[in-house]
Formats: sequence, C-alpha cells, structure tokens
Amino acid sequence: MSKLGPNSYRSLLLDLDGTLLVLDMEKFIPAYIEALSSKFIDMISQNNFSQHLFGATNAMVQNLDPEKNNETVFYKEFYRRTGLSYKQIKPILDEFYQYDFPALSFWGSEHPRSQAVIEAAQKKKMNLVLATNPIFPSKAILERLSWSGLSADQFQLVTTMENMHFCKPNPEYYLEISHKINCPPEKCLMAGNDTIEDLNASQAGMATYLVDDFILQRSKEEPISDYRGNLKDLESLINSMEI
Ligand SMILES: [Mg+2]
Repeated sequence: MSKLGPNSYRSLLLDLDGTLLVLDMEKFIPAYIEALSSKFIDMISQNNFSQHLFGATNAMVQNLDPEKNNETVFYKEFYRRTGLSYKQIKPILDEFYQYDFPALSFWGSEHPRSQAVIEAAQKKKMNLVLATNPIFPSKAILERLSWSGLSADQFQLVTTMENMHFCKPNPEYYLEISHKINCPPEKCLMAGNDTIEDLNASQAGMATYLVDDFILQRSKEEPISDYRGNLKDLESLINSMEI
C-alpha cells in the first residue's frame, strides 16, 4: 500500500515505555510482578500469582470481542484462574497502585527529547494520543507517564485497560484509536520502539515510525517501518511538515 507523505498526518500516536519514557520493560516487569505478588502472599503463592497474571493478561491481549473492554476480560479470567473475588482483590490493588507502584519510579527516567516532540506536534495542531499498550489500569499508566515528566492533559486520548477493547499488537487496537479520535488511519503516524507491537499499526493502515533510542527488536528480520530514527529525528520530521 502506498503511504501518504508526512504532510498528511493529522494525528501522532506515541508509545510510552522505551519511547517517551526511559524504562527497560524487560527488567521492570519482573520487579513489578514481584512487588504486586507480595501483596497477595497470604492468598496465593508468588509463583502461582505470576502464572495467573500472565494467563489473564494473555486472555486480554487475545480478546477481539468489541463488547468487552480489556479490564472486564482480564478480571474475569483472573478470578476464574485464582478463585479470588473482586471483594478480595480490589482493596489490595487500590493500595498497591496508590503506595507501592509509585515506589517503583526509580526504574523510569525522563527522556530529554519527549517534551520537545509533544510541543512540535502541538504546534502543528496534531491530535496526540498516548498509545501505550492498554494492559494496565489507568492509575499505573498515569503514574508511569508522570515519570516521563509528561501529563495526561497533553494528550487527546490515553489508552488504558478501562477505555479500550483491544491490545497491541492487534490492528483492532489501532483502529479503535482512529475511531475514538475521529481521524482515519492513513492520517495517523504511530511512533514507538517495539518492532512488533508498535509497527503493527501499519496493518491498520497507519504510517509507522520506529523510534530506535531503545529499540525492542522482536525478531531476527530487519524491521519494516515508514520512518526510523531517534526522538530528535521524529521532532525534525514533525517540524518539517508544512501543515
Ligand atoms: Mg515501548
């Protein structure tokens, strides 16, 4: 499919972890799971907890039923696997995301070019979407966003497990964003560091920008994207747009 040039993009979708936020997910996820599972230690072993967390997350990622949001799919599967109920886990999760999750902030740090990319896109009056994989509750996403020095009010849409029905790398995730912001896919540019999760936006008809500051190369093959570079190069691309 032939893509439109940079002057046609009306919306910029940005990944968070490893793109706007300096965070090594491959190290952070085990630390996150250890902290979370320790809150449930009286109910379930840490090993079983992480197994069921991954199992329920997989169910959520694979769900393509537009009637069920990610949160619903995740918890239904998590309750089924663990035998735990909403009443049992809700207060523990609330406490975790209020006190324990923010204590993990040392894992993340600001990317010195993030703010400039956002400002460049704002100058061009582009829609801005924080297109982070919506497998986390909004509290956990907004918290990580704050580690990047950015805030939710800089975006028209922040995708979370509560407001989305699909996850990366499904093209349905990108089409849902396109629908929510009322911008056709071919006028959207998705920028992220993951060669599968982010570049799959092309399957929804979006243009893709592989941000290679902290590239997550998921396969041996050379990744295919419309653009590639660091955040500074992305800022230059946006500045070069005539609209
Ligand atoms: Mg990422």
